[in-house]
Amino acid sequence: MKIHKMFESGKPVLSFEIFPPKRDGDVASVIRTIDELAVLKPNYISVTYGAAGSERGLDTVKMASRIKNDYQIEALAHLTSVGASEEDIRRILSIYREHNIDNILALRGDLDPNAPLQSRDFKYAADLVSFIKKEGDFGIAAACYPESHVEARSKTTDLIFLNEKVRRGVNFLVTQLFFDNEQFYSFRNEVRSLDINIPITVGIMPVLNRKQIERMVALSGASLPDKFKKILRKYEDKPDALQDAGIAYACEQIVDLLSSGVEGVHLYVMNKPEIARRIVRNIASILDTIK
Ligand code: FAD
Repeated sequence: MKIHKMFESGKPVLSFEIFPPKRDGDVASVIRTIDELAVLKPNYISVTYGAAGSERGLDTVKMASRIKNDYQIEALAHLTSVGASEEDIRRILSIYREHNIDNILALRGDLDPNAPLQSRDFKYAADLVSFIKKEGDFGIAAACYPESHVEARSKTTDLIFLNEKVRRGVNFLVTQLFFDNEQFYSFRNEVRSLDINIPITVGIMPVLNRKQIERMVALSGASLPDKFKKILRKYEDKPDALQDAGIAYACEQIVDLLSSGVEGVHLYVMNKPEIARRIVRNIASILDTIK
């Protein structure tokens, strides 16, 4: 099933993001993660795509295929085009098709500053979207950035390029993580004013520890509201308290977002199903409402 069709029900679409094991990694532990996430009845689970190596897509495809074919849960397979040729992408798309995968999150991927001669068959994610559209009948998602992408020259140009990407055939958007809902609301207003009317699902990352947040903030440029900083300061040396506070913060963020009409919630669960379980338990009846 195409994931974008799920938004038509008017019920919030719940999804989790996991990362696959590396080639010689612990497959059993990721399978246990999927087992536990499946019980929470997400509408779909997305699987990230490794940053380097010619075989990188195969880890994603194996996990996405299990989610879809063994658990009968819709899978969203991430795909990045940086450094890939058209032939590479055609090959991976045909493997996705063989495994019954209907939905792809089309991404450019992060540029590698040490590899200036990366293939330029796909300069931006928009080029990948056009290519996927031409190659087969996939549901296509793309990333968007409420606080702008870190490389963007300005908010305005980022929105112009987002609009271009969507027009190439994107069916729904997944946001970068953010901790300040006001940033999302002003982004959504701007997106809608450009007549981009596809669903936007919000990416929420619960805090697990201070290091993780510092790394994510450095990567994403997400701003931290004062009340969030206060939590980090107060509980940074008390891991259990920080986790409890982080889950409470994520729940409060989600309740506010859902009551402001967001179409979907995407939890970056970092292969920690207990975190997903605690959040979903807290907001189960809210997730069950129709708009
Ligand atoms: P694009 O949409 O191509 O945008 C990249 C930059 O180029 C932006 O600054 C944009 O403004 C600019 N731009 C776009 N078009 C033009 C143009 N025509 N001219 C000039 N500038 C332009 N990375 C992974 O490696 N694996 C993953 O699994 C993964 N999953 C992700 C999931 C989500 C929900 C998100 C938000 C990100 C994910 N990423 C992942 C990270 C992503 O690959 C990076 O953020 C990457 O730097 C940008 O990818 P994009 O698809 O948004 O790029």
